[in-house]
Amino acid sequence: MRARIFTEGVQQCVGYFIIPAMLPKSIRKLIEEFSKLPGVGPKSAQRLAMHLLRTPDSRVNGLSDAVRELKEGIVFCDKCWNISDQNPCPICESQARDRGKVCVVEEVLDAAAIEKTGDYDGLYHVLHGVLSPVDGVGVEELKINELIKRVRDSREEGGGDDGEDCSVTKIREVILATNPSLEGEATALYLQRALMEYDVEVTRIARGLPTGGHIEYSDDITISRALKGRGGF
Ligand code: ZN
Repeated sequence: MRARIFTEGVQQCVGYFIIPAMLPKSIRKLIEEFSKLPGVGPKSAQRLAMHLLRTPDSRVNGLSDAVRELKEGIVFCDKCWNISDQNPCPICESQARDRGKVCVVEEVLDAAAIEKTGDYDGLYHVLHGVLSPVDGVGVEELKINELIKRVRDSREEGGGDDGEDCSVTKIREVILATNPSLEGEATALYLQRALMEYDVEVTRIARGLPTGGHIEYSDDITISRALKGRGGF
């Protein structure tokens, strides 16, 4: 927990940073709110607030409208749990995609990053986190049971393996694309075991060296995995 914020009295502190008491209350409030955002320290928050003060009204209103509309116009797709402006989301509704393939990711932005490559034509499933007992995140806190039900239902009800016209397509492959972190690996392992009984192929994304990286500076695990996951040239 980064910031202890004292709102009582004249002085206001964000961590060890004291918001100048001479500033009007509305600016102090904005600095306090900005500094709660990830990656924004109190000094950046102060700069942002002062920048907005100098910005023309129309642009400030545009920003405040965008923030307000963020929550109003967004829904969760109840199939893949990605965010969208419609339910089901356009990806889940698309018949042009390979509906037998589901890529499981931790967060919405992971799905967006994979989608941006243009190399994946299947569906997604967003877990909204990873298993982390230390932080009190268990199966119930994530969309894990929803994934298992999705696979089970598709295996029981699904008819179309290869593009047959059918409302539910059998899921043939579940690609586990959680991060290669301790929690990401544990979550992938849990899912692999949980999906074992459903006659579905469960795969894990390959791990290796990043583009622009150097073997010399990479850790042993990365090098070893890159070697194990080598493919034809
Ligand atoms: Zn969806």
